[in-house]
Amino acid sequence: MTRVPKLLLLFLLIGLCLLIGFLTTDGCKAPEPPQKAAVPEKAVLVIHGGAGAPPANELPQAERKKYKKVLEDALRQGYKALQKEKGTSLDAVVAAIEVMENSGVFNAGKGAVFTHEGRNELDASIMEGKHKMAGAVAGVTRLKNPIRAARAVMEKSPHVLMIGDGAERFALSLKVVEEVNPVYFWTEERWKELQKALKKEEMQKNQGKRLPRKAGATDRHFGTVGAVALDNNGNLAAGTSTGGLTNKRHGRVGDSPIIGAGTYADNQACAVSCTGHGETFIRHAVAHDIAARVQYKRLSVARAVAEVLDGIPEEKDGLGGVIALDRQGSWAMHYDQHTDGMFRGCITKDGKISLWIYQDKE
Ligand code: ASP
Repeated sequence: MTRVPKLLLLFLLIGLCLLIGFLTTDGCKAPEPPQKAAVPEKAVLVIHGGAGAPPANELPQAERKKYKKVLEDALRQGYKALQKEKGTSLDAVVAAIEVMENSGVFNAGKGAVFTHEGRNELDASIMEGKHKMAGAVAGVTRLKNPIRAARAVMEKSPHVLMIGDGAERFALSLKVVEEVNPVYFWTEERWKELQKALKKEEMQKNQGKRLPRKAGATDRHFGTVGAVALDNNGNLAAGTSTGGLTNKRHGRVGDSPIIGAGTYADNQACAVSCTGHGETFIRHAVAHDIAARVQYKRLSVARAVAEVLDGIPEEKDGLGGVIALDRQGSWAMHYDQHTDGMFRGCITKDGKISLWIYQDKE
C-alpha cells in the first residue's frame, strides 16, 4: 500500500471513532433540566387541609411552613397508627384528622370558622370500605374532636348520623371524646373572618342586592380537613371534619358529615374525602359519584375524580377539591380551576412524605 492511502485510512478511522464517541455520549443532547422531586405513585395515607389556600403570592413562605408542618405531623401520626400490629385504616384516618383538628390552623376542631350568630358548629364523618359502615355528627359545639364522635356513632350505635346535643351526649357518655367549653373554639383569625363577612353582607343588603344564594359565599377559603387510608389488610377508610362555612346560618349542615357527598369508602372502589362548597357537593353526591365511576366504569381514581369535578358547572368563587385512594394505593388530588390551592400530602408504604399547596401535582 502506498503512503497516501495509508494516511487517508488513518484519518478515516480517527473520524469514525470520534463520531461513535459523540453519538454514544450525551454530546448531541441539550443538558437535562434540573429534576423535580419524584411524585410517588402509590400511597397508604393521603390527607387534605382544605381547598382554602389563598393565591400563591399572598401566602408567605413562613405561613406555608406552618401549614406543611401540621400536614407532616398528621401524616406521621396516621402512619404510626398504620404501623401498629393491628393498626387499621380507620385508626390512621382518625389519628391524622385529630392532629389537624387540634392544630387550630385548619377549619376543623380548634380552628373552626364561625356561624352568622358567632358560634362554632362542627361536622365530621367517617366510613370504612369493607362493610361500608359509616358514622357522622353534625352541629356539635362542645366536642374537642368531632372525628372521634363520628367513629363512635359508626361503631357503637345503630345510626349513621347524629346531630347537636344528642350527638354530644352520646359521644360523651361513651367517654370517647373530650368535652370542651365552646370558647375553646374561639380564635381571633376566624372571628375577624366572620366580621369581614358580616360587613360584606351588610353592604350588599344596603345596596339593595339580594343576598348570595350560596351559604357562606362571602368566604371562598375552604379549610376542611380529610384523610383517606389503606391498611395492610387491604381495607380502605375515609374521614372528613369541618367547621363548615364562615357566616353559615345556625343549623346549616354541609357535605362533610354527609356520607356519599363529602366522604365515602368502598373496598370495591376507593376512599374519598372532599372540601369545598358543601351545598354543591351534596347536590352532586360527589364522593359517591367518584367511587361509582371507579367501580362501574373501571376508571382510575385520578380519572374518576377529574371527570366528576370537571362535570360540575363552574363556580366562580371556587368549587373545591377532592382526595381519593384505591386498594392498589393509587391516589388522586384534584381541585377546580377557580380554586387557588389545596393543602395536601401523602405518605407511602415506606414512610416517604410528600406535601403540596399549589399546582405542583395534579
Ligand atoms: N365542605 C365544607 C362545608 O361546606 C367546607 C369546606 O370544605 O371547607 O361545610
